[in-house]
Amino acid sequence: MLAALEQIQQQALEELHTLQDEDALQRWKVTHLGRNSPLMRTFDQLGALPKEERPLIGRRANEVKRALEEAFEARRQALQQAALQRSLQSERLDVTLPGRPIARGRLHPTNLTLRQIVRIFNEMGFQVYRSREVETDEYNFELLNIPAHHPARDLWDTFYTTTPGVLLRTHTSPGQIHVMRQYAPQPLRVVLPGMCYRYEQVSARKETQFNQVEGLAVGRNITFGDLKGTLSDFARRLFGPQVRTRFRASHFPFTEPSAEMDIECFLCGGWGCSVCAQSGWLEILGAGMVHPLVLRNGGYDPQRFSGFAFGLGPERITMLKYHVDDIRLFWNNDLRFLEQF
Ligand SMILES: [Zn+2]
Repeated sequence: MLAALEQIQQQALEELHTLQDEDALQRWKVTHLGRNSPLMRTFDQLGALPKEERPLIGRRANEVKRALEEAFEARRQALQQAALQRSLQSERLDVTLPGRPIARGRLHPTNLTLRQIVRIFNEMGFQVYRSREVETDEYNFELLNIPAHHPARDLWDTFYTTTPGVLLRTHTSPGQIHVMRQYAPQPLRVVLPGMCYRYEQVSARKETQFNQVEGLAVGRNITFGDLKGTLSDFARRLFGPQVRTRFRASHFPFTEPSAEMDIECFLCGGWGCSVCAQSGWLEILGAGMVHPLVLRNGGYDPQRFSGFAFGLGPERITMLKYHVDDIRLFWNNDLRFLEQF
């Protein structure tokens, strides 16, 4: 019986030292210390032993039991310690390492130019006026002196909605009517930035959506001289104090007279290059004195009030400033392009 107990203890301890995880430890406990383990059955058999052997065997069995329990506890703590060491090693945190840099966003190139343009006009006393991108045929065409039969309407290939007479604005000019009707007969100076939409064949030069900045000044005694002075000053503030400008006669239905403003090509200094088509000049914006009919549609008496208006494209100016040769890049969301600004 004593030999059997020795055997039980030796075998259990040998097994215990090969165990590597908590599950195995628990299985070992059931096998060697559980109700049906050989050791526990020894206690059950004590009653059947001769009286004089009972104390000796009983004491020995208790010693074995305690030895196994202590060994179990020691092994369990050793395994826990080892696991803790491993996780400290593998998840070691070096607080002296520099942090990972946070990816910072930046402004879209069009917004950069847009903000620059708006800031310049703000400095000259123009306020920003936002107007809707979904417009009616009346505001987008009729009230701007572009009636249904007007040949100029062919210039704008329009996105019409399924609601008759409702469309995506093809230019920011309908904002002129909105702002005039809101403030007439007060004098006003506003810029109207925003997105426009045209049903175009997309190419390197044409997109179906693009930004425009419209400008409008209405008051008493506003002359073409004010228009030239304001826009020439704008060009100098945007492209540098040395830049030269020129005005060419043009035609728009909602201005009379109308003009286009060029600046001397800042790439070749006026000598002629591929960007300016060897002309030495770059077209920057369209402008003109507000047509009397448009003034009246806005609520101003053209006998007493006059004004000038202009429109320019931030994407076009961005393309010129940064030598971007394809307008589609602006809406492709390609980070390789956007991160350069
Ligand atoms: Zn040039």
